[in-house]
Amino acid sequence: MPELVLFQEANRQLVICNACRYCEGYCAVFRAIEVRRTFAEGDVLYLSNLCHDCRACYYACMYSDPHEFAINIPQIMSDVRVASYKRWSWPAFFARSFTDRWLGIALALFVAALVVVLGTVLVSPTQMFASHRGPGAFYHVIPYLAMVIPAITLFFYGVTIWLAASVRFWREQGNAPTRPMSIRAVTQAVGDALSLRNLAGGGAGCSYPEEKPSSVRRVYHSFVSWGFLAALTSTTLAAIYQDLFGWLPPYSLSSAPVIFGSAGGVAMIIGTAGLAWYKIKSDPAPGGAGAARLDLVFLATLGSVSLSGMLTLALRGTPAMGSLLTIHLGLVAAMFVSAPYGKFVHFLYRSLALVKYHIEQNQLH
Ligand code: SF4
Ligand code: SF4
Repeated sequence: MPELVLFQEANRQLVICNACRYCEGYCAVFRAIEVRRTFAEGDVLYLSNLCHDCRACYYACMYSDPHEFAINIPQIMSDVRVASYKRWSWPAFFARSFTDRWLGIALALFVAALVVVLGTVLVSPTQMFASHRGPGAFYHVIPYLAMVIPAITLFFYGVTIWLAASVRFWREQGNAPTRPMSIRAVTQAVGDALSLRNLAGGGAGCSYPEEKPSSVRRVYHSFVSWGFLAALTSTTLAAIYQDLFGWLPPYSLSSAPVIFGSAGGVAMIIGTAGLAWYKIKSDPAPGGAGAARLDLVFLATLGSVSLSGMLTLALRGTPAMGSLLTIHLGLVAAMFVSAPYGKFVHFLYRSLALVKYHIEQNQLH
């Protein structure tokens, strides 16, 4: 659907919802709708990123298809959300991966394959397939700088694009709050993001993958988000161990980096597999065009990174460690490269939308 038509259609549906207000108890979106009379492009962009696709409003709606109003809020919010990802990303060629079915996949596969091929060509078979043990064992296969320099470069590339995107989100969100960002609003938004409160669908849970509400999707999503935070903690602790104390990896199974990394890895494997399964069997009617592909690519990438990481940990004392580590690093590189051009960005925009929501609500109460 062309963007102009998309925003007009979103405006039409939101105006009807604002008159109806039946769904106001379900989520923050409806409470944000109620403080507006019109829905300009910026408002629609903001609301779309506040929607968590719980689908409670779709199954509750008496004006959905075949009614002539044909209300389908999760679908229109999903379509606008994907358009917002593309609009705020940079450069335009890679931003096309949000709507181009194969570009994002090709980009991730290319980077993963490039790292694996380089590893295979540059590391001698003797080093690659030998058993390496003791401090610095991983660096006998891939030298430390060969791991760290590309990782830091990709990290700062992603952060720069996300910062620019955050500025654009804040400028284009429409009806900017009159109060500035406050610690209180940020704290409330962080609380919502960590607890995934908006996936509660008004209390009974998401109507996902089908009409019957359940909390299972929220649980899977929590596994992914908390697992990711645990893995991030593990990487940070490992960096402190190595660069501050001079303790080289691999670390013992009872060390803090391994405990956090293992817990995070297992949680992400369960969470990504569960969410992917739910996505595949979900009702397509309230789904947006292209959103399922973005979700599945993201879940497959994160799940493969977690699985390859856990395998590397489990088999680190064997001759398989070299090839598993190379594959793991290739998948990590693919994840970093595709982070600004895939579903990963929803974390950024949802968090910003929650901050804006709490600024607005704090003004009112
Ligand atoms: S989704 Fe349907 S029932 Fe809910 S507020 Fe909108 S029009 Fe009313
Ligand atoms: S799908 Fe869920 S989160 Fe989105 S508007 Fe409807 S009730 Fe709110």
